[in-house]
Amino acid sequence: MNAIADPGTIVSPLGNPTRRLSVTIPCYNEAAGLPELYRRLTAACHEAVGDDYEVILVNDGSRDATWEAITSLSAKDDHIIGVDLSRNFGHQAALTAALTLSNGERIFILDADLQDPPELLGAMMAAMDAGADVVYGKRRKREGESKRKKITAKLFYRLLAQLIDFEIPTDAGDFRLMNRRVLEALLSMPEAHRFIRGMVSWIGFTQVPLEYDRQSRFAGETGYTFAKMINFALDAITAFSARPLRIGLYAGVGLLGLSWLGIVYSLISWAFFSTQPGWTSLIIAVMFLGGAQIFMLAMIGEYVSRTFVQTKGRPLYFLREIVGSPHKTASKPAPTKRRATSKAEV
Ligand code: UDP
Ligand code: MG
Repeated sequence: MNAIADPGTIVSPLGNPTRRLSVTIPCYNEAAGLPELYRRLTAACHEAVGDDYEVILVNDGSRDATWEAITSLSAKDDHIIGVDLSRNFGHQAALTAALTLSNGERIFILDADLQDPPELLGAMMAAMDAGADVVYGKRRKREGESKRKKITAKLFYRLLAQLIDFEIPTDAGDFRLMNRRVLEALLSMPEAHRFIRGMVSWIGFTQVPLEYDRQSRFAGETGYTFAKMINFALDAITAFSARPLRIGLYAGVGLLGLSWLGIVYSLISWAFFSTQPGWTSLIIAVMFLGGAQIFMLAMIGEYVSRTFVQTKGRPLYFLREIVGSPHKTASKPAPTKRRATSKAEV
């Protein structure tokens, strides 16, 4: 039984898994590297699961010959499924398209540029055999990436960790292996702004890291412009945290408190010292109204953030397991000898 509260709007079209492994790869201007990716990935898949796998390559509106490269791979090897998006929708949307089409019991997320070595599949499968639901790649080193990218990424993950109430691993991308129940949980979250690595962390279950050194790109250049990175960071923060709005609430309460001190001060000045006519009433109005406005704005923000969470329509929780059999005991008279534990896998 699958314990998904509400399947939401994004649903895997092919219910039961028909393969042991799906590999999902978003591709944007990756034509030059695809033959090498195919070669290394095919070897890794064969070693891990023999013939029982599929590779879903999504062309995210590339401007080069990526789609031609995908169609020619798919023509010669029927493990390869090619998907062509109508334009460039971005990494996370392209990855979602691939995940939605996955038929595997296990799903391996990979970038097309060979920065994350496909050969780690074997180690990830082994960690999953040992009980993990998600095995995520944790970067020890990042080769061939600019200083600016490394510093901004580091700062971003540290800031994010301060803003959220659950743990998103630092120094991890989308490179990971997950099982079907985590995939279905992920696809039951219908939100439009998708920060997939965060969503997977939010889902829970047993998630374990696998450390590795991130390589340089095999070919081509990064599809993440600075503007795309800012968008990505904002999507991540707003998807998981309402804390920035709280800053307004604290500032409003603080200012309102200070304004009372100011009001007392200006009234004392007015009563006992000489003040400019009009100063006292002006300063009271400015201080009190300023504080009250920020406070009310922040209160509106609190309601907006709740509306936002509600409109995302995420399930409230996912079940790992239920023990005992409440239905049996509810519908029948209490049995004389009840089994100590009856386990229902969910
Ligand atoms: N990508 C995509 N659409 C985009 C940008 C990137 O599908 O608009 C793909 C890209 O082909 C690669 C993965 O997403 O497989 C990660 O992108 P990239 O390597 O450019 O990011 P970086 O590794 O530099 O963070
Ligand atoms: Mg890359």
